[in-house]
Amino acid sequence: MTTLDAKLDRVLGAKTGKALDSALGLVTVGDLLRHYPRRYAERGELTAIAGLELGEHATVLAQVERVSKRTMKSRRGTIVEARITDGHRSLSCTFFNQAWRERELLPGRRGMFAGKVTAFRDQLQLAHPEYQLFDADKTDLGSAAEEFASAVLPVYPAAQGLPSWSIARCVGQVLDVWDGAEDPLPAELRDRMGLADLESALRKIHRPQNFGDVQAAQDRLKWDEALAVQLALAQLRGAAKSHPAPVCRMRDDGVLAAFDQRMPFELTKGQQEIGEQIAADLTTEHPMNRLVQGEVGSGKTVVALRAMLQVVDSGRQAAMLAPTEVLAAQHARSLRELLGDLAMAGELGGAENATRVTLLTGSLNAAQRKKALLEAASGEAGIVVGTHALIQDRVSFADLGLVVVDEQHRFGVEQRDALRARGGDDASPHVLVMTATPIPRTVAMTVYGDLETSALRELPRGRSPISTSVVPVAEKPAWLDRAWARIHEEVAAGHQVYVVCPRIGDDEENPGKGKKKAAKSAVDDSDGGGEEPPPEDGEERRPPLAVLDVAEQLAAGPLAGLRLGILHGRLPADDKDAVMRAFAAGELDVLVATTVIEVGVNVPNATVMVIMDADRFGVSQLHQLRGRVGRGSAPGLCLLVSEAMAGTTTRDRLDAVASTTDGFELARLDLELRREGDILGAAQSGRKSGLKMLSLLRDEDVIAQAREEADRVVGEDPRLRNHVGLARMVAEVVDAERAEYLEKS
Ligand code: ADP
Ligand code: MG
Repeated sequence: MTTLDAKLDRVLGAKTGKALDSALGLVTVGDLLRHYPRRYAERGELTAIAGLELGEHATVLAQVERVSKRTMKSRRGTIVEARITDGHRSLSCTFFNQAWRERELLPGRRGMFAGKVTAFRDQLQLAHPEYQLFDADKTDLGSAAEEFASAVLPVYPAAQGLPSWSIARCVGQVLDVWDGAEDPLPAELRDRMGLADLESALRKIHRPQNFGDVQAAQDRLKWDEALAVQLALAQLRGAAKSHPAPVCRMRDDGVLAAFDQRMPFELTKGQQEIGEQIAADLTTEHPMNRLVQGEVGSGKTVVALRAMLQVVDSGRQAAMLAPTEVLAAQHARSLRELLGDLAMAGELGGAENATRVTLLTGSLNAAQRKKALLEAASGEAGIVVGTHALIQDRVSFADLGLVVVDEQHRFGVEQRDALRARGGDDASPHVLVMTATPIPRTVAMTVYGDLETSALRELPRGRSPISTSVVPVAEKPAWLDRAWARIHEEVAAGHQVYVVCPRIGDDEENPGKGKKKAAKSAVDDSDGGGEEPPPEDGEERRPPLAVLDVAEQLAAGPLAGLRLGILHGRLPADDKDAVMRAFAAGELDVLVATTVIEVGVNVPNATVMVIMDADRFGVSQLHQLRGRVGRGSAPGLCLLVSEAMAGTTTRDRLDAVASTTDGFELARLDLELRREGDILGAAQSGRKSGLKMLSLLRDEDVIAQAREEADRVVGEDPRLRNHVGLARMVAEVVDAERAEYLEKS
């Protein structure tokens, strides 16, 4: 029997089996059959060369334009160079000491050419090309397509030494002997959804007769992926819900009520609604797992604080986790400010219901740390604020009722799981996750699918609009001078300014993290990391601008006379804190910083942000960054300084950021402009490996349907005991995820 589990080396021979394994990691028949074609070529079609990306391993259908042979002077030997074309642009393929190729690569012949796309002196090349020519007497796909007796030719993701047509041949041999597989989807479900059965889907995806076959196969295979992920998530949600949780009832005589009394502003409608949702969640017997998405400045902190106070009112504790020490310190400070004497339990002047806000970070000295740990363990601290390290360290709480995680995008599923184990007794604490990164619905359903989500879309009244402009220094160098002049005006008007750079500088970046990382992406990731998109070209670029250099140049030149401060992740925590404090107090005019200021930092008097080398940041990161200005009554201005030329994708991304302040719209644009793998990778989801066919951008309907179906199935049969096939699908997803997680850690 040749089943999906059969080993490829048995079916295809040891040599081929080994090649498939080492080049593409394919070991079983199932692995190979799920190595889906990347695209399909139509009879007579040529691949658009303009669409190729540098550095990718490409398979190109093209026509030989001309071929030439010359002798190398330095060494004895020949070079054959063939230029192949799609009718518009051409690519060069070079062969060393293979003179006979000149006789084969005759102008006018068509075929498939494969290799890594490189550039040499403005000329695109295929490095170490391999090719398969179509029959000379046929003008179209000829022999390559004959094998499939069809007009649609699959083009596979290939690797050096294993071109698409070799993969196709292997797939063909496997399909000829494959005995099929039992379909994990119940027939009833397939009928209801109009889905093909698994065997025919797998056959058609590789050997389609026409594009209708491709569509039918994709529909089915996408559905499998969507359903498996959603079933896994539905089970996670179910399991989380099955734990007991601390029930935290509202009181009208507690610290929350006292706080509401004196709140300096009125809650927005969104804050009220989400507040009520959360308040209700906290009174149930099962843990809340809620994600609140809210634009930068939408007032998530107050929402979180009110939830924490409700927990404190029931005699329990709340922990608030921030991604960086700077942010944790700032949170502690702003919570104390908001609470006033309500945070002064045990101190002189403390209010009657008062609690205590304790800051617990890695940079405390031994005595401070001991005191903080004691306050957490004794229950004296109603609210403990710290970095994510809080959950890794063995900090013990008297009775932890709620964990608030700020800025979720830096916080993975595994860490969330670790949290659930932190409650007292057998209970799991409630979890409230907050993010300012708007998450497209499909990503929310897939990556954060174990959480219920709510969105805070409206900004508090009195918030000022932020306008954003690109400063294209390559085309308009004078604009940069105008930007610095603008900063002088702004400071003269009593406002403050951020200048953000992608790198710290002084080049002992990330000692111990290895050279590769420092050279590749020099973003200051001592605080959790930037999300620099991969460079568009494979060429070396100059290193990104650095805080230390830029600060020195500004102080000596364009911004001479202003009070400049420096902030980055490599400063000792005390210094960071001191700088932030000085800036907040208005003792500094300009703060030159890395992305440490990306999240949460709140200085309402700051009105302008200049982002240097803006193209080195991701779209959502830029959006986050600019949210630091315009937080007071004066309008905010964000200047994106970049050398990126008009018309490049890089520039398009910046223009997109400048064009809208709607985070949800931006998230969608971002998803479009980036490769999806990056999105899942950046979200640290670990779900990447499960999704080969499903697109988070285009398959919203499928995902939503699958979620509904998964909820129904898991609702009736939580452990999938009566759905063996489905249980197997889920196990595969979970295994893939676990494997990837292990790889990462
Ligand atoms: P974010 O959602 O980005 O974390 P914050 O919670 O830091 O935003 O809130 C930004 C600012 O808006 C803070 O100064 C906060 O006190 C203020 N704020 C929050 N809610 C309101 C409101 N309903 N009305 C007016 N100001 C508010
Ligand atoms: Mg915040």
